[in-house]
Amino acid sequence: TTFAEFGLHNALLSRLVELDYQVPTPIQAQTIGSILAGKDLLAGANTGSGKTAAFALPLLHALLSKPLKPLKGNGVRALVLVPTRELAKQVADSFKSYAVHSNGAIKVVAAFGGVSVNTQMLALRGGADIVVATPGRLLDLLSSNALKLADVSTLVLDEADRMLSLGFTDEIGQILGLLPKKKQTLLFSATFPEEVRQLTDALLNSPLEIQL
Ligand code: AMP
Repeated sequence: TTFAEFGLHNALLSRLVELDYQVPTPIQAQTIGSILAGKDLLAGANTGSGKTAAFALPLLHALLSKPLKPLKGNGVRALVLVPTRELAKQVADSFKSYAVHSNGAIKVVAAFGGVSVNTQMLALRGGADIVVATPGRLLDLLSSNALKLADVSTLVLDEADRMLSLGFTDEIGQILGLLPKKKQTLLFSATFPEEVRQLTDALLNSPLEIQL
């Protein structure tokens, strides 16, 4: 497979040439088509597999390829939950890098703890296409109405096992309760302990299941 065969938007394909991504990694080859088709995904995958691009490229493609209704209030189209601030920064930077040729059409905001909440509140004014967040900071921002989740159409849980083992179970439960029922959900986890299984059972709708 090649990235072009997935029919990805030219702004993304030209960026992948620049980044010298010559062929999709196995997780990308196995998931991008299905994510583009709107299916849920349950993927057993580690860091280093190329999992970030596996979800970022189809999400960006969807945002670039259809006319979007203007965001209402502080609305968000896609929410990516990650366990740590380092990963939040890294994943948000990946989205921004892949989208660099899309003429500023896509707004990506990273929301993580350990830094002042004000900058993130300002960044969320008027909403965002993609928010990459750690659960605790996201709840803080939600409680001050800095964003709303009612219009989220895609949810990504990255490193779900780490999020749960870091003690974010309650936070994740609260966040899930604020999301619309009808949405596409993509869950990535290196391991599948009982707690992750319960989450996947509750959340995923006939997902494509892959194990790398
Ligand atoms: P990840 O597993 O998402 O943390 O990605 C691991 C690394 O692989 C990152 O530095 C990516 O930039 C790089 N990468 C992802 N996909 C590809 C690809 N198809 N070809 C070359 N490098 C890639």
